[in-house]
Amino acid sequence: MKILKIMLIFGTVFSYAVGPTKVATFDRSLWGESLSTQSSFDKASRYEILSYVRQIINTNLSTTTVLKKFVGRKNVNLSSVQKWKKSTKEELLQNFQLAQKTCTTSNKFSLDLCKKVNSWAELSIMAREYTPKVNKKEWYKASQTFFAYYLYEQARLAALFPKITSEIDKLDASEVQGFNFEDGEFLLTFDDGPKFKRTEKLSLLLQEKDIHGLFFVLGNNLEKSLKVHGKKKIKKLYNGSCVGSHGFIHKSHQRLKTWKSSYDKTRALIANNNLQNTPKAKVWFRPPYGQRHKKLISYLATLNDTVMLWNIDSQDWNRNLSAKKVEDRVVTLMLLHRKGIILFHDIHPKAIKVVNVLNEYREQKTISWVDCRSFE
Ligand SMILES: [Zn+2]
Repeated sequence: MKILKIMLIFGTVFSYAVGPTKVATFDRSLWGESLSTQSSFDKASRYEILSYVRQIINTNLSTTTVLKKFVGRKNVNLSSVQKWKKSTKEELLQNFQLAQKTCTTSNKFSLDLCKKVNSWAELSIMAREYTPKVNKKEWYKASQTFFAYYLYEQARLAALFPKITSEIDKLDASEVQGFNFEDGEFLLTFDDGPKFKRTEKLSLLLQEKDIHGLFFVLGNNLEKSLKVHGKKKIKKLYNGSCVGSHGFIHKSHQRLKTWKSSYDKTRALIANNNLQNTPKAKVWFRPPYGQRHKKLISYLATLNDTVMLWNIDSQDWNRNLSAKKVEDRVVTLMLLHRKGIILFHDIHPKAIKVVNVLNEYREQKTISWVDCRSFE
């Protein structure tokens, strides 16, 4: 009995850390068209948004009973899910309209789904009435599967919030998720480092491509790296990028009793070595797993520091996802959200491969990178 109880406790703790067991992936080659121009990017964006709308209107999450079944949890927060759904509908309508901005082009090839929509109801009708043509059938099937999983990921996070906090919602207005960026603007962020060789390889790529991303370091790793490599080398390691805090140890800061010392220790390591590279030397904080509490946020405010969450989770840490799958997932979510903060990990090699590919969209000017050095 005691063993069973311990197993249950561990089972619960473990599931906080590993995230959902089902993760959305996509084979983007099924789209069969390039995304190399603004109008082709917008066209693909309209299709993916419409596909997600179809999943949302087909999924009943209206009662606690169905929600429990859907996310496979006993304790679910229906009002949090309703709030998430409301803001998602607003975001999707706005994004669909933004994706129609190239509809005036004389290029007939990109004029699909250009009928004006003024409300969620109109967008829902368009999604419901959509039937794919022969050349879009395979894409649509894959896209529907992707968004069924993505909807599950999101609804699950919303159902658990705020008992288990995450990136799905703000606890305070000061927190940043990335939804308020300008259309086409993305900030690259990298968690859990430094792991010297890997972080260095990624940092050199960012420098070569003139990308200024944000590294959320674990105090524990930074302290070790400083001991082994010295201040000068660590400063050089993050040349051109910015450094924020991920706490001293990789534990939920919603539950960690020593959250304050975890924050202070890591902040001191960053600030004493002048690694922030941000306006007014602000230290951004990314809580492990996005888990934090209001006390922590208020404490950060006294230091002029702020919580930075994310809205595009690459899942690059996931062993079941190849670099190609991570790339396809991130591109699909970029088409859906059209802006925001992308979460990678510099301790895994996949980020390097994926960032290299994503930068091509920047070179084609369909997207732009937010510069962490001027972002406030
Ligand atoms: Zn982390």
